[in-house]
Amino acid sequence: MINVILFGPPGSGKGTQADFIVERNHLTHISTGDIFRKNISQTTNLGQLANEYMKKGQLVPDQLTIDLLENELDSFSDTNGFIFDGFPRTIPQADAFSTLLKTKNMFVSFIISLEVSENELVRRLLRRGLESGRADDQNEEIVRNRIQVYEKQTSVLKAYYLNHLPNIVFSIDGERTIEKISNDISNILSTKQG
Ligand code: AMP
Repeated sequence: MINVILFGPPGSGKGTQADFIVERNHLTHISTGDIFRKNISQTTNLGQLANEYMKKGQLVPDQLTIDLLENELDSFSDTNGFIFDGFPRTIPQADAFSTLLKTKNMFVSFIISLEVSENELVRRLLRRGLESGRADDQNEEIVRNRIQVYEKQTSVLKAYYLNHLPNIVFSIDGERTIEKISNDISNILSTKQG
């Protein structure tokens, strides 16, 4: 089993790269943002609650997100592994995640950190907002707030993982072509099979 955490600010290309990894390695893609958006479009209670935070560019509360992730993991019993995109995003989420994985006798195989400068992120997110109509990508203030939330609450996870799992953290320059980035990730993942 290969379990990959794709780590990086909003707009760093996690979703795009996750699609490549899924295709090449037949992993199950878990994006907490996608699950929240699905719940919003289906107007579930969870979706309505999550939307209160998402529309402001804030993080959904930890416990809600952790419970969601746990349910999602339980729903896939037969898989080569998972790619976690947008989770964990806080230290409490990372702590809960490591406890959860232990109970399932699962391990994180790779943590891939996509590095992109703030100006490039804003440019990409606003473009995505125009192309996809995604609500939280359309307003520059919300976009900048999401990047700030990332800097304050999520970026510390890189040091956290460098401290806990130093041998499996890989930093990648995310400002190159999609192909170059996906080749780099592919090479890293090929160092471990099954
Ligand atoms: P994403 O699609 O990963 O950029 O996530 C979009 C939004 O969903 C974020 O701005 C948060 O409001 C919410 N979200 C997604 N994943 C998480 C998470 N792990 N913890 C808290 N909020 C999350």
